Amino acid sequence: MDGPTPPGALPAQLGRILEPLERPLPDRLKLYNASNFFDHRAVPPEDIPALAELARPFSAVTVEAHANMIGQPVLEFADLIPGRLEVAIGLETIHPTAAQHLNKRMDLTRFDRAAEFLAEHDIALRVFVLLGAPYVDPKESVEWTVRTAEYAARRGAAAIALIPVRGGNGELERLAALGHFAAPSLPQLEVAAKWPLGFAPAAVAADLWDVDRLDACADCGPRRVERLRRMNLTGCGEPPVSCSDCDP
Ligand SMILES: [Zn+2]
Repeated sequence: MDGPTPPGALPAQLGRILEPLERPLPDRLKLYNASNFFDHRAVPPEDIPALAELARPFSAVTVEAHANMIGQPVLEFADLIPGRLEVAIGLETIHPTAAQHLNKRMDLTRFDRAAEFLAEHDIALRVFVLLGAPYVDPKESVEWTVRTAEYAARRGAAAIALIPVRGGNGELERLAALGHFAAPSLPQLEVAAKWPLGFAPAAVAADLWDVDRLDACADCGPRRVERLRRMNLTGCGEPPVSCSDCDP
C-alpha cells in the first residue's frame, strides 16, 4: 500500500482468516504486519479494540514492533486481550558496522530499554536475529549470529528466531557484487542453531521459511532441514547428519 492502512481493513482481514478455521484454535495468534503494530499508519488506532476482540480466543498473542515504539500503547493492547502478549523485535545483529547499515533507527540502548520495559510489565519478548547480515565477514557470520542471540537471551528474550538473510530484492545482489554480502548456507544455519541450544530458558529456533533457497548439499540437505525442523519443535539437540558427499 502506498498510504496508511485504511481503518477497518485489518479487522476484516483477520476476521475472514479466523472464521473458517477449525476449532479448537491454536494457542497462539501471530499478527505480523511487516513493520510495526504500534505505528498508527500501519495499524489504525481505532482498529485496536476490534483486533483485540478477534484475538480473544488465543492464550498468547504475538505482535511485531520496533524497539523505539515500546511504551504505553503496548500496555493498553496487553490489557485489552485476555491472553499473554508477546512483542517481537528485530534485533538483527549487534555487529557494529552491520547494525548501523541495517537499522539506523535502532541502537542497542533502545533495544535494552524496550526489553527492560517489557520485562517490567510481564510482556514476553521474541527476538529476530539474522544469519548472514550484510557487512558481516562471511567467515564471522555464525559467530555474530550466536553473539546476537546471546545478547537477546541475556536481556530476557523468551524466544529467538534465527533468520537466514535471503536475497531476491535486488539490494542484496547489489551488496553482494560490492563484496558486502554472501548468502548464508544451510550448514551455517545448522551451526548457529546448535550453539544457542544452551541459552535456556530462551527457546531458539532456526527460521525455515524458504529454506530450500539456502546453499546445501543435494544429497543430505533435506535430511538436515528435517533435523532442524524437529529441533525447532522439541528444543533438544540431535546428532549431526552425516553424509559421504559433504562430510570432511
Ligand atoms: Zn551432503
